[in-house]
Amino acid sequence: MELACLDLEGVLIPEIWIAFAEKTGIEELKATTRDIPDYDVLMTQRLRILDEHGYGLNEIQEVISTLEPLEGAREFLDWLRERFQVVILSDTFYEFAMPLMAKLGFPALLCHKLEVDENGRITNYLLRQRDPKRQSVRAFQLLNYRVIAAGDSYNDTTMLAQAEAGILFHAPKNVIEEFPQFPAVHDFEELKATFLRLSNRH
Ligand SMILES: [Mg+2]
Repeated sequence: MELACLDLEGVLIPEIWIAFAEKTGIEELKATTRDIPDYDVLMTQRLRILDEHGYGLNEIQEVISTLEPLEGAREFLDWLRERFQVVILSDTFYEFAMPLMAKLGFPALLCHKLEVDENGRITNYLLRQRDPKRQSVRAFQLLNYRVIAAGDSYNDTTMLAQAEAGILFHAPKNVIEEFPQFPAVHDFEELKATFLRLSNRH
């Protein structure tokens, strides 16, 4: 039995924080783990900035609902789901991803969660576990699934390594160079072909 695990941001949808920053014009929200490597520091800063601009969950979801999946992503995902069981493994939050998941037909998603008070203010965030993508692949393997995983960035590489087969998709040059063991593809047609090639079904 085979399972396909996909990263979300950069693979099927735009980077949510960056797209949100562009839509709202809040430049400081463009900071990523490349600028601030400590995720807790980065998230604390993001929540403070949202607060300062008066953005609660409702306003944020309104903005996010104006974003679209990447071109061809919905068709690719439908194609993949006809051929594999698919689970999306992401470091985003359910509350942010949901408007976009609706546009993808609500595939299975494992990610993190926000704490929101009765006024819609985001008060905290709950990470599901440490190294969640790799741990998820490990868990599926314990259920006797052979996993083929695809992602675009550093936070995917432990997932790709844990999987029986890993694919870099839309990855920047530095990631491709640092992880030459993974095939790197750049469009959905190539990604389809690579999934079929790495599958052991035929
Ligand atoms: Mg990504």
